[in-house]
Amino acid sequence: MLGCGFGGLFAVRALAGKPVRVTVVDRTNHHLFQPLLYQVATAGLTAPAVAAPIRHILADQKNATVIYGNAECVDLARRAVVLDGGDEIAYDRLIVATGAANNYFGNDAWEAYAPSLKTLEDAYEIRRRVLLAFEHAERETDPAGRASLLTFVVIGGGATGVELAGSFAEIARHTLHGEFRRFDPRNARVVLVEGGERVLPGYPPALSERARLQLERLGVTVWLGKTVTGIDAEGVQLGPDRLAANTVIWAAGVAASPLGASLGVPIDRAGRVIVGEDLAIDGHPEVTVIGDLAALPWHTPPVPGIAPAAKQMGTFVAKNLVLSLRNEKTKKFRYKDVGMLATIGRNSAVAVLGKLHMSGYPAWLLWLLAHIYFLIGFRNRIVVLIDWAIAYWTFDRNARIVIQGRKEP
Ligand SMILES: Cc1cc2nc3c(=O)[nH]c(=O)nc-3n(C[C@H](O)[C@H](O)[C@H](O)COP(=O)(O)OP(=O)(O)OC[C@H]3O[C@@H](n4cnc5c(N)ncnc54)[C@H](O)[C@@H]3O)c2cc1C
Repeated sequence: MLGCGFGGLFAVRALAGKPVRVTVVDRTNHHLFQPLLYQVATAGLTAPAVAAPIRHILADQKNATVIYGNAECVDLARRAVVLDGGDEIAYDRLIVATGAANNYFGNDAWEAYAPSLKTLEDAYEIRRRVLLAFEHAERETDPAGRASLLTFVVIGGGATGVELAGSFAEIARHTLHGEFRRFDPRNARVVLVEGGERVLPGYPPALSERARLQLERLGVTVWLGKTVTGIDAEGVQLGPDRLAANTVIWAAGVAASPLGASLGVPIDRAGRVIVGEDLAIDGHPEVTVIGDLAALPWHTPPVPGIAPAAKQMGTFVAKNLVLSLRNEKTKKFRYKDVGMLATIGRNSAVAVLGKLHMSGYPAWLLWLLAHIYFLIGFRNRIVVLIDWAIAYWTFDRNARIVIQGRKEP
């Protein structure tokens, strides 16, 4: 099993007690609940609330061995995975679940000025930049310099961009209120830039519009139909327009994990591996690819790149593997739509559950309950519940300690 995100974890768990030995390889020592990662980036939660050691999660699953390492490539002919340092792991069956990576669409130099949100390291880097921008603004005497420090740009109006922009506005308007003497943090500017004509493009247009209105109510300036043509240390270029900003976050694109291309089988434009109805790759029934790394062009409607899809694929390939060991007929994958949820801020969210479309407080409550319910680990649920309850009543964010100040660029 390569990768222990949502897809990998659900696959390995579905193999508990089955007559197989599972080797789980991940380049981090933790399973990460990505849907709440923006809370770490915006000082609402700490890392242990949204991540748990893989070794601990699987401690009771005696047929699973966890290996900490980066899978560099797969040798399909020899049925071996090559790890960093050259070690190899031989396999009879392989499940590849290494997910997605950030995508700057060929402008990789932008990454230094505009980090993305994918890992815990990313979340801490974003949090550091945002909180220290306010700190520096208290020292800055030049009005233009201070305005730039107090301008926060989020590029990309998908779910992550919307969540980040809404939270930045809440930090400025509520969390930091009354803590600075030389400026009013409520005057900070949060700009969400989206190239398309609406935010949350995967949602029905009416909900996108409600999300935009909820963002603006929180104090976010939403720019639609604007294409970013440059990012540097001083700000963002949008064609002929320039936006001076000290803090820029990239939430505009994801590409598949590069491990997919290393398989040497057909991939789509986003680098995702094209799989068949059993989620196996062409010519290699012993290798399945699941989650964000898998492309299912034959599936209608398209399978979204979200956690429920990865989990369903993980459980599916594990069950099929057991069927094939018993020489029974394997099944074809069908995605069961469980809806979509995106939060915008306090009491603000949008939700699609089949034909039911919701926004505002009811959607936010649903989002909150769903995220607590699906968090991995009983302890994490309690920690998050307590932190959120305190934050709800006090507007505070309890994870504001920055300790890497000396590493600033
Ligand atoms: C910020 C953010 C917010 C999101 N919010 C939501 C949401 O609200 N709701 C929702 O449903 N979905 C959300 N998603 C999408 C969801 O998290 C993904 O669809 C889901 O995680 C995909 O599962 P996966 O198993 O394919 O990959 P992942 O969960 O990303 O897991 C991949 C695993 O592989 C490991 N790995 C990667 N490369 C290697 C390698 N070479 N060697 C070894 N290990 C490797 C990684 O460390 C990771 O543990 C969000 C994603 C992000 C980034």
